[in-house]
Amino acid sequence: MEFIDEKYINALIEDKSFNDKNLQLAAIEKARLRKGISLKESAILLNITDNELLDKLFSAAKEIKENIYGNRLVMFAPLYLTNACVNNCLYCAFRIDNKDIVRKTLTIDEIEQEARQLIMDGHKRLLLVCGEHPKESNLDYIGEAIKRIYSINYNGNNIRRVNVNIAPLTAEEFKKLHSFEIGTYQIFQETYHYETYTKMHPSGPKKDFAFRLHAPERAFEAGIDDLGIGALFGLTDYRFELLAMLMHAEYMEKTLGVGPHTISIPRLEPASNAPAANKIPNAVDDFAFKKIIAILRLAVPYTGIILSTREKPELRSELFSVGVSQISAGSKTTPGAYKKTDNKSNSEFGQFQLGDHRSLDQVVKDVCNLGFLPSFCTACYRSGRTGDRFMELAKTGKIGEICTPNALATFKEYLLDFASDDYSANSEKALLEQVERLPEKTKNATKKMITKLENGERDVYF
Ligand code: SAM
Ligand code: SF4
Repeated sequence: MEFIDEKYINALIEDKSFNDKNLQLAAIEKARLRKGISLKESAILLNITDNELLDKLFSAAKEIKENIYGNRLVMFAPLYLTNACVNNCLYCAFRIDNKDIVRKTLTIDEIEQEARQLIMDGHKRLLLVCGEHPKESNLDYIGEAIKRIYSINYNGNNIRRVNVNIAPLTAEEFKKLHSFEIGTYQIFQETYHYETYTKMHPSGPKKDFAFRLHAPERAFEAGIDDLGIGALFGLTDYRFELLAMLMHAEYMEKTLGVGPHTISIPRLEPASNAPAANKIPNAVDDFAFKKIIAILRLAVPYTGIILSTREKPELRSELFSVGVSQISAGSKTTPGAYKKTDNKSNSEFGQFQLGDHRSLDQVVKDVCNLGFLPSFCTACYRSGRTGDRFMELAKTGKIGEICTPNALATFKEYLLDFASDDYSANSEKALLEQVERLPEKTKNATKKMITKLENGERDVYF
């Protein structure tokens, strides 16, 4: 935990000399080279208040995002297996002291039903989520769940990447988790501020700040090299959280040779019987939130930024353009909620309140109307492009040559199999126009993939 240097972070936050427009502009210009910026430069950007410079910050984030990712937005949904938990996180409805929710652990058959529903909605990529419980969510159960999820096939459609967000494991346990062929292992530190962390986690194994902080290294040692980190914004000063998270990313880059594959930016939402969620200690407003995302995009240009359905649709749409690269859609945070139709009872036992209740289909439509390309691609992981191999390709711009065709093919698959009847013919037209804009080399290969899909083949990718 020594690498989170609180003193240094606080000194950066308090440095009045960063209120200098020339310094701020210079940091933006440096970031536009897409090589990242230092912690100090990120702190400088946090001080921007001038409207013209703010516009420059947001347009630099947009430019970097478009340069690296094009107009792609990768889609996924969380799948909650259990709300049983032995921890007592003061912000979460699943905490052990909350006696107001009904505890539910899905059976493997119920997990299949949930995954089947998500496949029928059009999803290809899931994020498996659990409360922490030695019996209810032990590793054998998680392994069984993943095996069953991967085994489902619905007319050639299936879940092709299961990412996992579960409590930190020991090195041995991570080896076992790796053997389940997971995609990314995600873990949010929640807050990097030690004193706040101690207050927020009064009991249970999650009390151990250092065990959680060093989980990515243990996972990496065990062979999991796509790692996601995150902070739960609202627990402490957002400036501290952002800089500490970037310090974590730097540390990973230095010690593992590869930085985080993704960064998540959950914001605290109201939750049943969760005092810190219902009276947020350091609420982050929408404008600051936008600034956080833009600075992240400038600081770690090649890291995926994940935006969840915690946020409301209008804000989500605005944030897509400042650097977000992955979004969840059609999400539910209650175990068993995808299959059920009674929305009221579902939401009562959820982990927290959602801001975006739209279906995947509605989100996909909106994403298209905004000029983005929804991607259901899972190819990199299945082609061995993970960890430093992925980063190397991303940094040399080669990933774009692979990802855009794959995104187009998976979107075509979605249009063929899952899009609602009222789907605008414009989406198909936009897709074909984008194929035409591809460089000659990849255009023909992409056209071939699309023909294969039209002829009934599924799961085609580079
Ligand atoms: N239980 C495991 C853990 O805590 O590491 C797995 C992840 S937990 C189910 C998923 C994430 O939800 C947490 O890491 C936390 O950041 C987030 N979360 C918890 N309560 C929240 C709330 N009230 N609003 C928004 N996000 C919340
Ligand atoms: Fe349990 Fe995770 Fe919720 Fe904490 S955040 S109470 S560990 S489910």
